[in-house]
Amino acid sequence: MPEGDALHRAAARLQPLVGERIEAGSPNPQGEATGVARAIDGRVLERVEAVGKHLLLEFEGGVVLRSHLRMSGRWRVGPRTAAGRGRPWLVLRGGRFEATQWNGPVLALERRAVRRLGPDLLADGTDVALVVSRVRRADQRRLVGEALVDQRLVAGIGNMWLAEALWEAKVSPWAAVGAVSDEELAHALGWARDAMRAAVLAPGGPRAVYRRAGRPCRRCGTAVVSRGLGDANRTAYWCPACQPDRVSR
Ligand SMILES: [Zn+2]
Repeated sequence: MPEGDALHRAAARLQPLVGERIEAGSPNPQGEATGVARAIDGRVLERVEAVGKHLLLEFEGGVVLRSHLRMSGRWRVGPRTAAGRGRPWLVLRGGRFEATQWNGPVLALERRAVRRLGPDLLADGTDVALVVSRVRRADQRRLVGEALVDQRLVAGIGNMWLAEALWEAKVSPWAAVGAVSDEELAHALGWARDAMRAAVLAPGGPRAVYRRAGRPCRRCGTAVVSRGLGDANRTAYWCPACQPDRVSR
């Protein structure tokens, strides 16, 4: 069944066509009826990515082709041939390769999705105080362990750095954002930024709590605990003594 991983493989196979000006056609009438081939013919393919259960092909001019394969659809990629076989919904020909899409069942055009990412914590121009104020404007009832990995608020922090940064700042991942001070948020975010920058050069340093459940906290010796947190059910790691529960202010 063509789900997430199959879409990622399809996206990988399509990469040789990225950067090429595409000749598009639709031998299949159902494919022709979507109007996709006419809209993308002659445009440069700028990017292919799998997002959830969709394959997104971004063409120059902000035209995005969305392909959902459901149970029956397939993408094939191979050397460019003079005469194609069968009646694919869509043929994309580059200089040396061609991609064919079979059986739809969903091929649709949309405008380029606006990338709603928050400021990149690792970018030189990103000020931690600005990120703190952005977090402050969001829902203050959310758990801090969820808010700081929400890439729409601040981009760049993953589960490991979140766990380590909250331990550094002595903030429980289960605290509501509203129960955490600006200073504590700045401490956690600033530490995460510095640690991630250092890790770019020298990855794999020691961890305080991440994946250390049951082992002693490096600061106080209490056993580190872990539990799934938030909608995505990421595993949170924390020291219950250094990072105690707190009530909202
Ligand atoms: Zn501790």
